[in-house]
Amino acid sequence: MSSPFQEQVQRAVRDEAALRAALAEADIAPMLMVLVQLTGDLAILDEVAPHIHGAWSFLESVPEPLKQKVRDRLVEALQDYAVDDRPPPPLPPAATLQRMMSGGVGQTVPEEYIPVLVEETRLAEEDPRAVRWRRDPARLPLGEMQVVIIGAGFAGLGMAVRLKQMGIPFTILEKNPTVGGTWLENQYPGCAVDTPNHFFSYSFAPNNAWTRHFSQRPEIHRYIEECYDRYDIRRHVRFGVEVTRAAYDEAASRWQVSLRPVAGGAEEALSCRVLVSAVGQLNRPAIPAIPGLDDFEGSLFHTARWDASVPLAGKRVAMIGTGASAMQAAPSIAPEVDRLVVFQRTPHWAVHNPNYHKTVSAGNLWCLENIPYFGQWLRFQLFWAGSDGFHASLQVDPGWTQPDLSLNEANHRMREMLIEHVRKELDGDEDLLAKVIPGYPPYGKRMLRDNHWYRMLKRPNVTLETGPIERITPGSIVMRDGTEHVVDVIILATGFQASKMLTPMEIAGRGGRTLRDVWGDDDPRAYLGMTAPGFPNFFMIYGPNTNLAHGGSILFHHECQVRYICQALREMVEQGYASLEVRPEVHDAYNHLVDETCRRMVWSHPGVTSWYKNKNNRVTVTSPWRLLDYWKLTQHFVPEEFRAARPGEAMQVPGQGRAAVDSAERLTVS
Ligand code: NAP
Repeated sequence: MSSPFQEQVQRAVRDEAALRAALAEADIAPMLMVLVQLTGDLAILDEVAPHIHGAWSFLESVPEPLKQKVRDRLVEALQDYAVDDRPPPPLPPAATLQRMMSGGVGQTVPEEYIPVLVEETRLAEEDPRAVRWRRDPARLPLGEMQVVIIGAGFAGLGMAVRLKQMGIPFTILEKNPTVGGTWLENQYPGCAVDTPNHFFSYSFAPNNAWTRHFSQRPEIHRYIEECYDRYDIRRHVRFGVEVTRAAYDEAASRWQVSLRPVAGGAEEALSCRVLVSAVGQLNRPAIPAIPGLDDFEGSLFHTARWDASVPLAGKRVAMIGTGASAMQAAPSIAPEVDRLVVFQRTPHWAVHNPNYHKTVSAGNLWCLENIPYFGQWLRFQLFWAGSDGFHASLQVDPGWTQPDLSLNEANHRMREMLIEHVRKELDGDEDLLAKVIPGYPPYGKRMLRDNHWYRMLKRPNVTLETGPIERITPGSIVMRDGTEHVVDVIILATGFQASKMLTPMEIAGRGGRTLRDVWGDDDPRAYLGMTAPGFPNFFMIYGPNTNLAHGGSILFHHECQVRYICQALREMVEQGYASLEVRPEVHDAYNHLVDETCRRMVWSHPGVTSWYKNKNNRVTVTSPWRLLDYWKLTQHFVPEEFRAARPGEAMQVPGQGRAAVDSAERLTVS
């Protein structure tokens, strides 16, 4: 039987004309990487790489004859491999990988990134993030380790797949009638991902069939559904039940979870050893406290609760908010409505990406399916394109002379580049330009992708209002300056209650202290964003300070978190612990570092208001770390950072007698 590698090679060479046709249309950089990996030919890399100027596919100027040379060589290489059932080539040594990676993205990829990139792209092994038992699992009491996961979205899926792999029993509780979480709930027109899709998918479940570089919601939701089915997770999900409360029973070292059927009926209780929240940060809409909102007699709904039964064609529509949801929804409905009034409180920055509206070429689709390593190298490129590249430019330079507008030279250059794009789009409309250019540095709020927003503002049926809203009447929106907009429909694109994390559930830890008691209304903290003292056997995915705001895919963070949690569970099972709880000093030192680091970053800029911060201006939601740093921080579960107890025993730090680990020192962050 041939290997998966050989099967792909055989498919690739079966029809040379089809292969050549696909290569003629496919991206050159991943093609080049495949060629170098198959042949070890670094000379061709040196020849082509100077024409690659960045990680995005549109940032290359490789001359056509050189492209053809790469294609011809690749055809030959594949044909060579097809003969005699040749095994795959060995993984190139780190120094060669670094040369390849750097050449492929037209920038020096630092050496420290190589391990994470090899892991993310699965270049060295099929499933590098699987957590494997160190003892014979048949002899371990896995049945005692029941896990309850709250939420059947992306995070719940990632957790469930790994638990299943380890043989740990689990149940997912989901309030909705099916899977998908935020990708189920957000059904507004134009809803799409703005992270490149071949990276915004689980590394263990790559999807070769994305039809767009940035797919629309239905396709993403379909991917989630397919993954739930492919890994046979759906039968572990109880749909239509909402967790109201979970309380830790210290005597039993177990969580008692209360749930309520959404359709009505009696509350129910479930018991489990470990509780994992996978509810995300963006699942409870924020409804603005505008006087008169409840008196509006037309249709009014939030983007995350889109009412598709309300026809918008020919209607006078107001949209309040100009964040990521508005950026996608407003341009999508503008052509069909009679009038659209957009209420902007503060402008957002938006970047142009030529691939944003494009479909994936037939050539790329073919290569993804049939050419070994093509998908892995494409994933690497997109990881790099949307990754840590901007992180350094989001740090405040204390000597910078224009601190209101930007943070440092690179950030200022970014600002000018963004303004140039808007100016071009607005075609000389200086009044509009003044209204939409933010007064704060780029990346202060979430960087958006321009979804033809500025062109939309130029439409004759669209009005941009930038003054404050005074009140809402039964038929209109009245502004503080007295302007009244009579409207039929109001759409609230006003975001989510992100800092009120895990609300409205009540999570009661040791001594009955709830997360709300510890965090207050909106001040969540956790060690590595996952676990908090006083809450044994409780973990969060996408918890405090784990949102990504400089780049990257949140699924990368989910995978880091899931691996860490699985390692913690492995420790519990293998050591026979009934409970595990992070040490307060470890938690506090980490959070001190998070706060200190955030203070020097763009999210804390005094001119910025955003959902990244709570009402006291503390950054509660967003991670200050590079992807690489968070990967390092979560790569290995460190037992000494926790207290643990076997049944009936008192909690203690494992390996007592060893020096206590200083968390702050362990953080090898830049
Ligand atoms: P958001 O970014 O929080 O934007 C909310 C908007 O509503 C802001 O413009 C805000 O103004 C405005 N607003 C809030 N309260 C208001 C009030 N009382 N009066 C007037 N305006 C008010 O929310 P979002 O657009 O739903 O996006 C949230 C997050 O979801 C995004 O940052 C992103 O992480 C995620 N998301 C991602 C995608 C994607 O991948 N493409 C799409 C949608 C959402 P201020 O700025 O002045 O506060």
